[in-house]
Amino acid sequence: MSIDFIEALSTDNLTAIKASPKTDVHCHSFLSTRRENAERWLGCSLTKPPLKMKGLGGMMEYIDTVLAPHLEHCQGFEFIATSAIDDAVQDGVVILEMSFDVRLLKFYHGGLTELRSFIEILVEQYREKVDLRPELGFARECANDPKWMESAHEAIELDLFQSIDLYSHQEACAPEAVQSLYAKARAAGMKLKAHVGEFGGAEEVRRTVKVLDLDEVQHGIAAAESVEVMRWLSENQIQLNVCPTSNVMLDGVSELAAHPIRVLFDNGVPVTINTDDLMVFDQSVSEEYRNLYQAGVFSAQELEDIRRASL
Ligand SMILES: [Zn+2]
Repeated sequence: MSIDFIEALSTDNLTAIKASPKTDVHCHSFLSTRRENAERWLGCSLTKPPLKMKGLGGMMEYIDTVLAPHLEHCQGFEFIATSAIDDAVQDGVVILEMSFDVRLLKFYHGGLTELRSFIEILVEQYREKVDLRPELGFARECANDPKWMESAHEAIELDLFQSIDLYSHQEACAPEAVQSLYAKARAAGMKLKAHVGEFGGAEEVRRTVKVLDLDEVQHGIAAAESVEVMRWLSENQIQLNVCPTSNVMLDGVSELAAHPIRVLFDNGVPVTINTDDLMVFDQSVSEEYRNLYQAGVFSAQELEDIRRASL
């Protein structure tokens, strides 16, 4: 007989935690399989990331020196994306919002048509196992590059992507720089998300939500610095898609036990629990739930409530 999620957490039964349906709505396709899967595929080992990296710069340094030299090509990307969906299915993820960076087009001579067909095949291939919802990913530094901006506009017109996400260094562009792109995504019926407040700045979280008319925020944990911003997010039911291990390893948060997701939750801000980049952070959604329970951040019942709400 299957045991429920609460019992699975309190008895530390990871198999049963995995068996409960979950979502992952913060997942970047290019880095979302386990490193060990990539190692097996490559036939070589990949150095582990340090337990603490200095922000996004530290993570990029790790990616550029360890991962990219082996995986920065079409076959590498397609292997990772496919393997990432397998990982999610094995983890009990039933809804997967996976972002595909517009710069992946550099791997496809056939351009958007070719990338689209790869993504459509993935959606179809996994239809019985997981609701894969392709998301258009746009890095902030691309906002000043007319070529990538044009590609993103064209990608919205494909009627393939169900949501859009903005990420990378917050200082690389103000939200205003992608306002027209987001307006177009809104008109196309897409869900609007952006990374903001990963490393501080509660007011910038609220400002970005307003400027881009966001439905959800990726990370957004800096909102915990301001009761007023949390109240505003709560009143407007703006969901924060949090990735606890990512926040700890990139040093936005000192340790899991002190993660501000607790404060956000207590202030009525809707939160979900997600992976970010499994290849770097190495914790599945099930493991993130387990870690939060074991660190005493949430009770099993609270995690059950968060899990149910996310579905
Ligand atoms: Zn992210």
